[in-house]
Amino acid sequence: MSARHHVIVGAGLAGALLALLLARRGHRVDVFERRPDQRIRGYEGGRSINLALARRGLAVLEAAGLGDAVLRRAVAMRGRQVHPLGGPEAFLPYGRSDAECIWSVHRGRLNHLLLDAAEAAGARLHFHHRLGLVDFDARRAEIIDDRDRHARWIDFDALLGADGAGSALRNAMQGHADLHPEITPLDHGYKELRSPRTPRAVSASSGMPCTSGPAAASC
Ligand SMILES: Cc1cc2nc3c(=O)[nH]c(=O)nc-3n(C[C@H](O)[C@H](O)[C@H](O)COP(=O)(O)OP(=O)(O)OC[C@H]3O[C@@H](n4cnc5c(N)ncnc54)[C@H](O)[C@@H]3O)c2cc1C
Repeated sequence: MSARHHVIVGAGLAGALLALLLARRGHRVDVFERRPDQRIRGYEGGRSINLALARRGLAVLEAAGLGDAVLRRAVAMRGRQVHPLGGPEAFLPYGRSDAECIWSVHRGRLNHLLLDAAEAAGARLHFHHRLGLVDFDARRAEIIDDRDRHARWIDFDALLGADGAGSALRNAMQGHADLHPEITPLDHGYKELRSPRTPRAVSASSGMPCTSGPAAASC
């Protein structure tokens, strides 16, 4: 197989995983991420710190050889405790048995793991670099170093957008051909709340083993 040059925009969960899988296939991979390297600067938070991982997400992590590494850092969530204002609390299980659970993983740590694995597989990661313009006919992308505003053009065989909801690549493609995107902004935001772990939550974790992973807690 000839090594194609894949340029990936965005080093979030999707971009880092894609970089890993393509690099493992022997492709030349460059990833451009506008933020600093969160492995050095620390995770900025946002978008809920913990991610609920279901079977579909685990399947692709297993395909990337990272299933066990992720599960070692995960907490099983078997259901949800409902606290009605007027009535008794109730536990609503997610599955038919304790083995059917979803997994809570720290979004930043998952991203770190994927970035490390992508780099180890040979992908080159460029932080502080964002996508500007794209010349689709010439297959060149303008990459801007946000530290000094220096712009340069990079040749690619394939340009892959993993740059999130407000994708710069999708906007550039829209200028090239009408994609008819449907974008509906939410008229509300979200807020992250922290609550200390209670003794009750600790005892729930020790009493209810989940068959496929080491750590368990009721959330
Ligand atoms: C409040 C909230 C809670 C969620 N909870 C869950 C959950 O529990 N489980 C779940 O499965 N999903 C959850 N999601 C959805 C999940 O967060 C997204 O599906 C996931 O983050 C998408 O990953 P991504 O890599 O495609 O994009 P992102 O995580 O958004 O990453 C995009 C990356 O691209 C970079 N970027 C952007 N523009 C440029 C540019 N021009 N040049 C270079 N880089 C650029 C950004 O800096 C960023 O690092 C939640 C979403 C929200 C909003």
